[in-house]
Amino acid sequence: MVDLVLQAPERGKPPRHLLDLSRPERRAAMSDLGLPAFRADQVSTHLLTHLQNDPDEWTDISASDRTTLRAVLPNLVQPVRTLTCDDGATVKTLYRLHDGSLVESVLMRYPDRVTMCISSQAGCGMNCPFCATGQAGLTRNLSTAEIVEQVLAGARALANNEIPGGPGRISNVVFMGMGEPLANYRTVVATLHRLIDPAPEGLGMSARGVTVSTVGLAPRIRELAEEGLPVTLAVSLHAPDDHLRDTLVPINNRWKVAEVLDAAWFYAERTGRRVSIEYALIKDVNDQRWRAELLGEMLAGHLAHVNLIPLNPTPGSKWTASTPSSQREFVAGLSEAGVRVTVRDTRGREIDGACGQLAALES
Ligand code: SAH
Repeated sequence: MVDLVLQAPERGKPPRHLLDLSRPERRAAMSDLGLPAFRADQVSTHLLTHLQNDPDEWTDISASDRTTLRAVLPNLVQPVRTLTCDDGATVKTLYRLHDGSLVESVLMRYPDRVTMCISSQAGCGMNCPFCATGQAGLTRNLSTAEIVEQVLAGARALANNEIPGGPGRISNVVFMGMGEPLANYRTVVATLHRLIDPAPEGLGMSARGVTVSTVGLAPRIRELAEEGLPVTLAVSLHAPDDHLRDTLVPINNRWKVAEVLDAAWFYAERTGRRVSIEYALIKDVNDQRWRAELLGEMLAGHLAHVNLIPLNPTPGSKWTASTPSSQREFVAGLSEAGVRVTVRDTRGREIDGACGQLAALES
């Protein structure tokens, strides 16, 4: 069963794009096209540094070479709908992919930073009952370029002054949109390189500004720890005990809480990065004081902090967010155990762009 959910179907594989490739591979792709290898860096600079995706504007490349290049620059993500709230500071975009699959990303501008929440799969195979994406199952893995393009679209909108607050840059990327990033492992690692590696290889973002959020695929967490990419790891725990977590995060039937946390501590040790423990507070389900204390005991002394997320009820769900008083009690239970805890801001609720609500209802 596990292998089935981890292996996404091959169908719908998108056409190859230059940004699927590493810098050496891009150079090789140029010779396949009969172009000089140095074109690879020129194109990368246009796409990643100048955020200019229209080849017609690339005046340092001849018109005939630009035509040739279009073969490796397919238009992979087509925006079909944009919703904004917070006076334009939160923007959710629904994209149609070449095979009709739909994915979403959310841009959130704050006074001190801009965060892009991106999707790594169309749908998700993890089947968490409180998450809107989980309900529809997995359609397919996204390609590297399909993921990177979500970030670039946001970066272009910011650079072109389309987001209130003046021209800006993306400072943070979180893999908290649709999909389980570690179930699309190779592609996500390649994407991390595109985001973090300096130009012209990648966008040159700071690794600590990039967060990979996972249900807890323990072996993949350990593998990620060895990649030499010190991104922030977020583990969606949601319960400290296997009995409850088996139902809230069904992959827990394969990798138990203790194994997931062991992998998280290994990640913290290898990367020196504090691990973020995600916990959606669900009224009368996982928000009891004793669970806060148990979680506190498990995390105390480790390089971790807890990010509490008030549940965003999904359509038809029997669950709701915890009351403010049980949320306060939960925070107190953790703080008293010496564990750092924050409550996540729930930007984008009104446009169904908040955590777990990225279900592309449109067809
Ligand atoms: N598959 C990854 C990333 C996608 S979800 C993961 O599970 O971590 C990003 C975060 O939003 C996860 O912590 C997820 O559990 C949480 N989430 C999903 N649905 C939610 C909901 N309805 N309310 C609050 N948080 C939710």
